[in-house]
Amino acid sequence: MIVIGAGAEQSVDPAEDELGRDRIGYGPTMSPMALYDATHGTWHLGERAHRERFALITHDERGVLAVAIDRIEPAPASPGRQSSGRSVIHGQILANGHPIYDAHVGARSPIARQRNPIGYFDAPEERTVCACGCGEEIPVGKHFASGHDQTALHERVRQLGGVVDFIAWFDRVHGNWPDINVIYEPVNLKDGTPTGAPARARHRLGCDHFYLDEDGRVINRPRLASAEEMTSLRPCRTCQNVSAKASARQ
Ligand SMILES: [Zn+2]
Ligand SMILES: [Zn+2]
Repeated sequence: MIVIGAGAEQSVDPAEDELGRDRIGYGPTMSPMALYDATHGTWHLGERAHRERFALITHDERGVLAVAIDRIEPAPASPGRQSSGRSVIHGQILANGHPIYDAHVGARSPIARQRNPIGYFDAPEERTVCACGCGEEIPVGKHFASGHDQTALHERVRQLGGVVDFIAWFDRVHGNWPDINVIYEPVNLKDGTPTGAPARARHRLGCDHFYLDEDGRVINRPRLASAEEMTSLRPCRTCQNVSAKASARQ
């Protein structure tokens, strides 16, 4: 990961700043977005930066912002001026729950104080192991080493005989109801507040398994089921019948 030591917030002339900003650096009251704007450029980055997937902004030797890098681009050239050779990092601001954020934002900088604002650190949180079980280390954010997902999948298909058998098995054990993919969050019928209880079934969008208030408004609005819920929640029986009829008509 790239570790960038940002200085304290300072005003700059938007006409002079390569990104047209009026301030750069770290300010304690900045929102993550403002901090990103003020620190994602412009930097002199070496070759290694282009192989890195994360950037950590530090100030006073503490991590203040973590970014998953999408791309690194040369700073836009302004007319009549020579290119500075500096770069801008574009990416997603990481938040609570991401291993890089959790390990480094608010924590001591992983590298020693140095003169150059740009440093590098090989964080253990940047790696995870392949989900196929081979033990290979891969960058965090990926599930499989290249090609291992296909191998793992086809190895399982083969165990059941072939694709036909695999599909028959899936439909029998899990059921094949891709359009029964909506959750009506359990709510208190009096005031429509969520009860906090998990939903018990998934429904088809447009089924009438929701509740109405006295004015006929839906009090538990539908939302799409998560992948987890698509696996763990049973499809509603009535919705299954409607869905089966609908597909028979096609
Ligand atoms: Zn693997
Ligand atoms: Zn239903």
